[in-house]
Amino acid sequence: MKIAIAGSGALGSGFGFKLFQAGNEVTLIDTWPDHVEAINTNGLEVDFNGEKGTEKIPAFFPQDVKDTFDVVFVFTKSMQLANMLEAIQHTLTEDTKIICLLNGLGHKQTLAKYIPVKNIFMGTTVWTAGIDAPGKVHFMGQGPVELQNIDPNEKAAAEELVEMMAKAGLNGQYSDNVVFSTWRKACVNGTLNVLCSILDCDIEELSKTETCRNMMTSIITEFSLGAKVEGVTLDVTETVDYLMDLCGKVGPHYPSMHQDLIQNHRPTEVDYLNGAVAKMGKEHGFDAPTCQIITDLIHAKEDLLGIK
Ligand code: NAD
Repeated sequence: MKIAIAGSGALGSGFGFKLFQAGNEVTLIDTWPDHVEAINTNGLEVDFNGEKGTEKIPAFFPQDVKDTFDVVFVFTKSMQLANMLEAIQHTLTEDTKIICLLNGLGHKQTLAKYIPVKNIFMGTTVWTAGIDAPGKVHFMGQGPVELQNIDPNEKAAAEELVEMMAKAGLNGQYSDNVVFSTWRKACVNGTLNVLCSILDCDIEELSKTETCRNMMTSIITEFSLGAKVEGVTLDVTETVDYLMDLCGKVGPHYPSMHQDLIQNHRPTEVDYLNGAVAKMGKEHGFDAPTCQIITDLIHAKEDLLGIK
């Protein structure tokens, strides 16, 4: 299959590497000059669960791509998605399938501005990845990737894409309710990521604070109101129990927003997490003051650190 990875950062590189090794024709698309140059000069080096490998996969800036593709994985950060979709329009045919596994809320609406709904496939993943240096990433875990069609007539196409990921060792699985999984994942990122970033602590330290459960309950109560707008039921007590349990399992690990904001001074996806819920509150008439103040605090930290 001819596959493009639009946004070949940490996770995009990991997926591109595995799909390439499975025999697909893969093209990496990215806007970070050092990364594109390193990949084209030295190959893409991936540490996959402790095993290092290098593959010669071509990398391009969006405007330099000449090909069209059967499948495009979008793997930008949330705030880069619209620009990337605009920049790759010339690489899409009327049948190109787009797979979106980004964290956060509201991506389906962004995609629908650029892509026919029949070609949009939404999902979530628990694979993890990080960039060690331009051209070098680590990719860890066992998955899975959950995927679902948006257009009810496209279930068979979603199953084919799941199969393609399964063959590449990415543990693709069909989901009957990806909207629920998306909200569930947003609950993780909208609590652990933002609270560890504001408090500058790891997940174990967060879980040991006396007010952890209270903070999570306030946030998840508001997320449940947002989810309800999309027809998703989030049980607040069950979700908070799940999050507290997750904290215990993950242990002394800094979540990705902490790594981005505090460690690397990069912008965050908060507008697509707590910020998205606060915005939904304004549009749909429910109160979300905790999500609003959390969004403001994260943006204030970005300002203090001079992050654009
Ligand atoms: P990333 O930050 O690694 O890459 C996103 C874009 O930023 C890429 O175009 C990349 O080239 C660019 N970039 C990265 N570092 C840069 C630097 N120092 N200078 C300039 N540009 C740079 O993003 P990611 O972690 O792959 O995440 C992509 C999406 O997947 C996000 O929505 C994220 O929340 C989600 N996600 C990530 C993980 C993970 O473990 N990384 C897991 C699940 C979901």
